[in-house]
Amino acid sequence: MSFSSLNLSAKLVTVLTELGYCFPTQVQVETIPAILAGDDVMVGAQTGTGKTAAFALPILQQLSEKISVDNVETKVRFVQALILTPTRELALQVHQSFVRYGKSSDLHSAIVYGGVSIDAQAAILQAGVDILIATPGRLLDHLRRGSLTLKQLAFLVFDEADRMLDMGFKDEIDAILKQVNPNRQTLLFSATFDKGVFDLSHTLLRDPKRIEVGKRNAVASKVEQRVYVVDAERKSELICHLMRSKKWQQVLIFIRKKQGVDKLATTLVDAGVKAEAFHGDLSQSVREKVLQQFKKGDIQVLVATDVAARGLDVESLEVVVNYELPFIAEDYVHRIGRTGRAGNSGIAITLYSEEDALLLEEIEAVLDTRLPQQWLEGFEPDLTRSSMDIRKTRKSAQKQRARRRAVGSRKQ
Ligand code: AMP
Repeated sequence: MSFSSLNLSAKLVTVLTELGYCFPTQVQVETIPAILAGDDVMVGAQTGTGKTAAFALPILQQLSEKISVDNVETKVRFVQALILTPTRELALQVHQSFVRYGKSSDLHSAIVYGGVSIDAQAAILQAGVDILIATPGRLLDHLRRGSLTLKQLAFLVFDEADRMLDMGFKDEIDAILKQVNPNRQTLLFSATFDKGVFDLSHTLLRDPKRIEVGKRNAVASKVEQRVYVVDAERKSELICHLMRSKKWQQVLIFIRKKQGVDKLATTLVDAGVKAEAFHGDLSQSVREKVLQQFKKGDIQVLVATDVAARGLDVESLEVVVNYELPFIAEDYVHRIGRTGRAGNSGIAITLYSEEDALLLEEIEAVLDTRLPQQWLEGFEPDLTRSSMDIRKTRKSAQKQRARRRAVGSRKQ
């Protein structure tokens, strides 16, 4: 199967050849003809399957044809394709794709997301944009200010619809839909389809074509991954509670810094749990002794940093806990690989607080899957915390991560 057999224009096929795309991926084979035929589509596909090109290419093709019929010189540009994404990172990626695939077209694309000046974005919108990639909150701000109209919209795309709903954008989506041309074509992409996504699809799509492609990188291990949402300051309390209630016998807990390791090990010991710290400041002989005790079952919990735990050889652990997520997403895979070995089952738990959002997103991108989040009774997160606090903590996490990347993984 070639791109030209999908009825893509010679111009686009040339761009794709230059990019080194030899063949369309499965999601592209199934989705591109449906979009070109004018169908609404509901596509189950994850990041990494080529889903962005699956909607970007037919949109670019159809808008290019239209714009060459309209006079490019005299045309007033209105937004004709709107791509909604849950995060600014995804918005940036999608925008880059439109720029790359659309480089030989006369179409103007732009991106709007929160956290940056709205005036500069409004100026770009007012100058005229054909394709807009946006996160829901900021798009709504622009609609309220009158920076753009969506009355001429021909294509509405929901990218990662499940995550958009998980992130609580339902109200924004409803408000945006009130301002959108009802006669547009709607394309919904989602990694998973739960009730929320189906409900959304019923209000959005007209007789959609359902397309489902297999996961590129399914996690085939027997490790059950759980994400418990909890406020950062209650994590140690939750660990003590889990140790008591679950009666786990062999648990490895990961923390990023040795100070944190020492602190949690002390808290656990104070709570009556047999726990030991395991990090690079301990002498080799102490580390070996601790490890022996852990293997024999004399120690219930080993609290460790990533680097110290790298050479740790325990046949199969019952539970691994990410007390803090690693700054490098691939470390998560190493961590959880400590359990569920040799065909045994295992549990990998992540204690997740709001400020870990970016780290979790990166991990999910590496795993090519979304990790379901759950609340535990008595440890529900405090939703009254101001978003300002959360943004501050997130920013500091971002800075630390950049620093950590710059210095590499030195002794921990
Ligand atoms: P996506 O799932 O849209 O995030 O795309 C994942 C990656 O696959 C991106 O880096 C794309 O540039 C690349 N890609 C998309 N379609 C193709 C294709 N047909 N051949 C080769 N690479 C592709």
